[in-house]
Amino acid sequence: MRFASRKDEYLPRAFYNIKADLPAPPKPPLHPATKEPLRPEDLEAIFPKSFIRQEGATDRFVPVPGPVLEAYSVFRPTPLVEATALEKSLGTPARIFYKYEGVGPVGSHKTNTALMQAYLAAQDGVKTLATETGAGQWGSALAYAGSRFGVETRVFMVRSSFRQKPGRRIIMELFGGSVLESPGPTTDAGRRFFGQDPDHPGSLGIAISEAVEAALKGRGVKYALGSVLDSVLMHQTVIGLEAERQMEEFGVVPDTVIGCVGGGSNFAGLSFPFVRHKLAGGRETRFIAVEPDACPSLTRGELRYDFGDSVGLTPLLFMHTLGMDFVPPPLHAGGLRYHGMAPLVSHLASLGLVEARALDPRTVFDAATLFMRTEGVLPAPESSHAVAAAVDEAVRAKAEGRRPVILFNLSGHGFLDIGAYARNGGAGPA
Ligand SMILES: *Cc1c(COP(=O)(O)O)cnc(C)c1O
Repeated sequence: MRFASRKDEYLPRAFYNIKADLPAPPKPPLHPATKEPLRPEDLEAIFPKSFIRQEGATDRFVPVPGPVLEAYSVFRPTPLVEATALEKSLGTPARIFYKYEGVGPVGSHKTNTALMQAYLAAQDGVKTLATETGAGQWGSALAYAGSRFGVETRVFMVRSSFRQKPGRRIIMELFGGSVLESPGPTTDAGRRFFGQDPDHPGSLGIAISEAVEAALKGRGVKYALGSVLDSVLMHQTVIGLEAERQMEEFGVVPDTVIGCVGGGSNFAGLSFPFVRHKLAGGRETRFIAVEPDACPSLTRGELRYDFGDSVGLTPLLFMHTLGMDFVPPPLHAGGLRYHGMAPLVSHLASLGLVEARALDPRTVFDAATLFMRTEGVLPAPESSHAVAAAVDEAVRAKAEGRRPVILFNLSGHGFLDIGAYARNGGAGPA
């Protein structure tokens, strides 16, 4: 292992907004009823006003507010590590670097946007933020951020995760959040599915419907989304902006940038600052988005307008989608169980700037085990998809006699997912 330094000056003072640099703009979101392009005021029933302003930002750089910067400085800059033991074990001439987002308060990158969203909500006088959570990382990130900025959180948690992963529910409650099993009986959207089957495994799409409904109907309640939206992706660019400075210490720039994709935010956060240089014509970087083969929105989904939820309450987004009715099978990588893909990631894929790959669970768990044995870090099942793609790239490079510099996002740690590892027999081949 070789670590880059974590100098305070590497902490970005502004987010990078890729929309300022795109050759063609993505198709706009549409109003769910009129199907006309959405106006900012249409979103006010759901989102805090200052969040809507972030979503519409057109500047290339958008400042990080002082109190958020201070909250970031508790755990940022996060480590940038060269995985020398992994390189050695693979016998690859490739150099493999990872950006480790697992050091944040709840162990994943989601805190980066949670802190921004809770801060903006507090500025607007919002009392409660309602949200959904899959594996629980987003819910715990928002509960933490809410406790930091004085906003209550109400979290609709996908039932399959709620039952498999009680640890995250406990964390949310310790931060003062209230957690509801989804689909459940407290919303019309939830009752639709809960009425048919009280053990319905749930999905992110359904949980989003419940949280949006809570915001539409509740006084002082607004909604927060942990991925997919342009501004959420923008908040995550602190990852890539830091990585860029840290890679300079090693005197290298990445040839290949890799991230796992659920809604697309950690991938975007690491890659967009590097995509900027490719758009400017300077570099031939490859960008690889990795998803589970059981929920293959980017590799198998259609590119079209679809709802972000399962009931049709959200704006229509132009994105890769498996359809709003798609209920992904229960997966250990609960954070990757989403029917759609961020419009900006979908757009970059359609422009040929992003490659997509779908991996099977065995390959992913074997790579995670190898990573743990060499680098000593247990990756989140979601992040393990990026690990597996990085390993695959490094093995190919060896076969082809290339020496690429690979950078991937280790979006979170897997300490609370240890049950998933146990069920998979723990170890793959050493
Ligand atoms: C939520 C989550 C993901 C998937 O979400 P994206 O928006 O695609 O980043 C990936 N990794 C971890 C650790 C997560 O918690």
